[in-house]
Amino acid sequence: MPTTAHSIVLASRPKGPPKPENFRYESSTLADPADGQFLVRTIWLSLDPYMRGRMDDAKSYAKPVAVDGIMEGGCIAEVMASNHKGFAVGDLVMGYFGWTTYAVSDGKQVHKIDPNIAPMSAYLGVLGMPGLTAWTGLNVIANAQPGETAVISAATGAVGSLAGQLAKQKGMRVIGVAGGAAKCNFAVEELGYDVCLDHRAAPDSKTLADQIAQAAPDGVDVYFENVGGKTLEATIVNMNTNGRIAVCGMIAWYSGLGVENAAPAPFIWRNILTRRLTAQGFIIFDHLDRIPAFLAEVAPMVANGTIKYRETIADGLENAPTAFMAMLQGGNFGKQLVRVGDDP
Ligand code: NDP
Repeated sequence: MPTTAHSIVLASRPKGPPKPENFRYESSTLADPADGQFLVRTIWLSLDPYMRGRMDDAKSYAKPVAVDGIMEGGCIAEVMASNHKGFAVGDLVMGYFGWTTYAVSDGKQVHKIDPNIAPMSAYLGVLGMPGLTAWTGLNVIANAQPGETAVISAATGAVGSLAGQLAKQKGMRVIGVAGGAAKCNFAVEELGYDVCLDHRAAPDSKTLADQIAQAAPDGVDVYFENVGGKTLEATIVNMNTNGRIAVCGMIAWYSGLGVENAAPAPFIWRNILTRRLTAQGFIIFDHLDRIPAFLAEVAPMVANGTIKYRETIADGLENAPTAFMAMLQGGNFGKQLVRVGDDP
């Protein structure tokens, strides 16, 4: 029997921060799965900063979402009907089905999840793509070492909260940078950061740089870069010779805000040169072969509560655009999710 799917599509490309009119809620009818396909029902949708990039028609590492196309996104879903030999009715899976209630899949880039290890939603956060990003950025890209000092921006977010906890476990001094007192308290009291600085309370990068200098008396060896903007400018001037920057994201600039006030390239290059820094960008989709090693290390710690994580949940697919727009401004506290359907 054909299935009615509700979806959020890209109605138009945003100029600056996304607005409600850039999204449209619509319905469509899905044909039954053909040979080699299966039908899924979305339970959880992940909202991630990279989706802002997919809304622009710009050359990047991934193709943009087409206007009138379904917004891209990772989901946890239940298999409802299957003509695919690898997936059976009732299987719980993670896949990039998009901002939609139902989808038909051929199984590419879809894997089964085990809800006995952790709640399903964790496979979109601490045990999913953001978790892998934190683990890879810290261990592989930044080559973080015991005894060193790290600064982690967006410190309580999906990526930052795991990066910070893993850095502490390594025996590093770990300084978080987050927006607001509540996030900073959580970073120190729950996630174990040594210090967390409120970038929204700092009037300029000089003030934040002074605070970082105080918090890092031996200088900064590793910067886990999630945001760009003021935090980058404040951190780079505190970096030690031969420091490493894992360039993971620059959310402060994703919608073009603050670009005109950003430090000029000569300032950044001069610091990279004179401090002999290594700044390495990475895209996590190039590191998917690391999933088994990542899960072997992190999943047991999530299961036994050693690693903590926090989620912000929007209820109902129709609320995804509002939650997404808020997340880009720091409205989320931990991993931003949308509850799309009931648990099986
Ligand atoms: P988060 O859960 O951290 O949510 C985004 C956070 O960014 C907000 O909560 C806010 O935190 C912070 N933020 C927003 N605007 C600003 C600003 N102007 N200045 C400083 N901070 C700001 O998201 P994720 O953990 O999912 O992602 C974190 C970063 O990692 C993003 O840049 C993302 O694009 C990147 N990423 C990169 C990947 C890769 O493959 N390279 C893979 C996954 C993520 P606060 O309130 O604390 O300011």
